[in-house]
Amino acid sequence: MLLRLLAGFGLSLLVGGLGYWRRSLSLSGWLGAVLIGTLTVGCGSWAWGWLIILFFASSSLLSKVGKRRKAAVALDKFSKDDRRDLWQAMANGGIPLITALGYAWQPHFAWWALALGATATATADTWATEIGTLSKGRPFMLTTFKQVERGRSGAISGLGMAATSLGALLIGLSAWGLTSLGLGNGQEPQVWFVVAATIGGIAGSLADSLLGATVQQMRWCDHCASETERTIHKCGNQTRHYRGLAWLNNDWVNLISTGAGALVALLIAVLAN
Ligand SMILES: [Zn+2]
Repeated sequence: MLLRLLAGFGLSLLVGGLGYWRRSLSLSGWLGAVLIGTLTVGCGSWAWGWLIILFFASSSLLSKVGKRRKAAVALDKFSKDDRRDLWQAMANGGIPLITALGYAWQPHFAWWALALGATATATADTWATEIGTLSKGRPFMLTTFKQVERGRSGAISGLGMAATSLGALLIGLSAWGLTSLGLGNGQEPQVWFVVAATIGGIAGSLADSLLGATVQQMRWCDHCASETERTIHKCGNQTRHYRGLAWLNNDWVNLISTGAGALVALLIAVLAN
């Protein structure tokens, strides 16, 4: 375990540094990556850590796709730029980290199932946002089925749903592949990994959209008369709270939805075992 801790530290320092250099991570986001990487690899397994690296690398790559077309939407709607900070890292990697600690304390497939569902949700949801924003059609709200403008929190599109499913499936197949290579630290490859990650990831991602459409904090810019997640709008104007719960920002929504995905994956794991 000490050797894996050290190796996890080295690897996450490197991958996080690459992310910092490529402007995918802020300095505090790099710290988050090192914490998450060291503890998931050290306390969980290599498979645990590689799945998170896969999430991070694929999300960073996808965020660069269609950058110009996305910039207009992202600047207007989303709360932060595409450099992830410590809180964003924890919102996505917090559950894999805690479950890895649990696995070191009491090795059980339940911890691994929870981590799978959480990582699949984080991946599926980020893929949906990054690819769904490129959709040519107008997305619709999950709650009302009304069409809304692109980039709106809680809105889903056909392209976004396809990306969600693919992202979740990728995590499931990778989990199976990594454990087949003997990197599971006691977890032997099982078909349920693929099912739990795919269904857990899709469910968690839908939970994210549902929260975005209902209780997530949304702000309003009086100057531009538009909805945004930002405290300071792109125009420089201070925005005001407009709907949703004031404390429930995007990071909390991510943490809750990775938790929901984790629980669905656990349910499938329990049914399969
Ligand atoms: Zn404005």
